[in-house]
Amino acid sequence: MPLVSMNGILAAAAKEGYAVGAFNPVDYASMKAIMCAAEEENAPVILQTSAKTVRYYGHETLAMWMRELAEQSAIPAVLHLDHGKELEMIRRCIETGWTSVMIDASHLPFEQNLAMSREVVDMATAAGVGVEAELGEIVGVEEDISVSEEDAHLADPDKAEIFCRELELGVFAPAIGTGHGFYKGTPKVDFDLIEEIYGRTATPLALHGGTGLSDDIIQRCIRSGCAKINISTHLKHAFVDGFSNYHKTNPDDYEPLKVLGAQFEVMKQLLREKIRQFGGSGKGRQLAAVL
Ligand SMILES: [Zn+2]
Repeated sequence: MPLVSMNGILAAAAKEGYAVGAFNPVDYASMKAIMCAAEEENAPVILQTSAKTVRYYGHETLAMWMRELAEQSAIPAVLHLDHGKELEMIRRCIETGWTSVMIDASHLPFEQNLAMSREVVDMATAAGVGVEAELGEIVGVEEDISVSEEDAHLADPDKAEIFCRELELGVFAPAIGTGHGFYKGTPKVDFDLIEEIYGRTATPLALHGGTGLSDDIIQRCIRSGCAKINISTHLKHAFVDGFSNYHKTNPDDYEPLKVLGAQFEVMKQLLREKIRQFGGSGKGRQLAAVL
């Protein structure tokens, strides 16, 4: 089926109490692994590209790969831009076929964040494309920019309410204590804050930094209002380890397709596990019928 906007699938997920996995592909094989995992689990799925990956392959190439994979599939899939910080990058994504974009102006003061996010909402809505926007600062490294724990601050619920009232968002990303990359120790996730923000904004929430969170934390986040869970770092590790571990155990095998096949399986198994954990299995085709 054609690529879909994120708004419909996240509204359904929030209503039914599960979360849609949002995974970052880094090449065609990882994109295909995400689609295969979602197909086998019969689950809706979000494929989100970092701006860095878009710059590496170019907009047209990524959009073409994704359109082809989605057309062969019966489950709803979204092509989303993760952490878009430049309007020109976002504009080109909308023009070339992304069905959802994130504007991350969270480093700016509130009014400027709101103004820049509004500009993206206006541009995207006119094209039928959904929007994610961020408030507060999420700890960790994103697009080579590092936010330390001292600099990170959680989203303010009063501002979150104004932000979501002013903007028509498909999904909202408030900083709630999670971070990008693997965690050192247990993160201090503020579940009360998630519940309060979800209660006051009635907008499905995105959980950034899903890699390495315990199952208990994941389930509590879903119950509190998170309908989109981002996994990037864990998939990067499966990508590299899947390739290198095969070579370590088969040092004489220089048949590239066998190495790629092993790497593909490692990624797909991880992705299926995550989709199941987030509760999306079995929801794909029935959701496709009503979108
Ligand atoms: Zn993020």
